Amino acid sequence: MFNVDEIRADFPILNREVHGKKLVYFDNGATSQTPQVVIDAIVDYYSNYNANIHRGVHTLSQEATDKYEEARLKVQKHFNAKQSYEIILTTGTTHSINIVASGFAALLKEGDEVIVSALEHHSNIVPWQMLCEKTGAILKVIPMDEDGSLRMDVYHELLNAKTKLVFCNHVSNALGTINPIKEIIHAAHKFGAYVLIDGAQAVPHIKPDVQELDVDFYVASAHKMCGPTGVGLLYGKEELLNLLPPYQGGGEMIETVTFEKTTYAGLPHKFEAGTPNICGGIAFGAAIDYMNEIGFENIAKQESELLAYGTEELEKIENLKIYGTTNKASVISFNIEGIHPYDIGSILDKLGVAVRTGHHCAQPIMNFYCIPGTVRASFAFYNTKEEIDVLVASLKRAQMMLS
Ligand SMILES: *Cc1c(COP(=O)(O)O)cnc(C)c1O
Repeated sequence: MFNVDEIRADFPILNREVHGKKLVYFDNGATSQTPQVVIDAIVDYYSNYNANIHRGVHTLSQEATDKYEEARLKVQKHFNAKQSYEIILTTGTTHSINIVASGFAALLKEGDEVIVSALEHHSNIVPWQMLCEKTGAILKVIPMDEDGSLRMDVYHELLNAKTKLVFCNHVSNALGTINPIKEIIHAAHKFGAYVLIDGAQAVPHIKPDVQELDVDFYVASAHKMCGPTGVGLLYGKEELLNLLPPYQGGGEMIETVTFEKTTYAGLPHKFEAGTPNICGGIAFGAAIDYMNEIGFENIAKQESELLAYGTEELEKIENLKIYGTTNKASVISFNIEGIHPYDIGSILDKLGVAVRTGHHCAQPIMNFYCIPGTVRASFAFYNTKEEIDVLVASLKRAQMMLS
């Protein structure tokens, strides 16, 4: 059974104080906290079998290689990829997107069209703009609505025979919107376009099935799902990963090298040049095990209760406006009239409450609402209603001090 007190005991950091107050951590959308089992996996690696992988004949190297490849299998199983080599271990979402965007530079031509959503994180906008600059392809945007949903009617009109790629996040980090990615993928495929889904903000809440989604590329970061920073995944369909040229040259990604010609290694090594984040990959595997032990149904239930309670309580605060009111994950993005989000965030910090303030790497969304930014409280399964009460009381105090 799901017991939030027991779960909180798995996270040593939740016991710490900030400015003499008990920490209330509501910045899970930026990075999640790390359970002891994941910390232990990191300590175990450096204490017992730290070695470079794939090249050594000695025991430590073989142990590290086995554990690293075991982690890849855990990622494969979690996302239900058909083949383990369709899972490329990267440094995170940003890296994964850049591998695909730079690969398509060789495959697009002038006048081709690519479609992005208005709800994207900068890391799912800028690499595609760079791709368009390089190739002469044209970037089109699916606009958004006041409630934070995508204008799917416009999306269907944007699609045509020239559309080659569509990229969209599964869950918006700025507003929490859960996008209709199945519809997006299905519609794009009718025109022969490939789809990349940025799952960075979805993976803490949802267990995606890449085969069921029939998605071409799915990317995410470990650090948003209880894993360490500096590691993530690129899932790609085998035939598409084979189509893309390598992103970086170096060790590990080659088959043979002479000064006349180099041949590349097969998947997944073709995209894994250099020594990877070995420890991070192994700890990512431990994080996946941990989240599955908690269970994604339990996670969803706890988070939807927090979202409902938090929304209800925040709406009672005078002059508070919530951005993004459509079907969404446990994220509340809001402003209090007449007060800059940064000032609210600073006072909340003094009261021990960690939230995000600013544009959340999604300036186009802020431009849409004509605001400089928002305060974002993002909840994880280890948060509680009592913590939401602390947030609400702290907001009322901030409001009194600032208005
Ligand atoms: C966090 C986030 C990213 C960037 O992830 P990195 O780990 O910084 O590479 C991209 N997209 C979304 C939706 C995010 O939430």
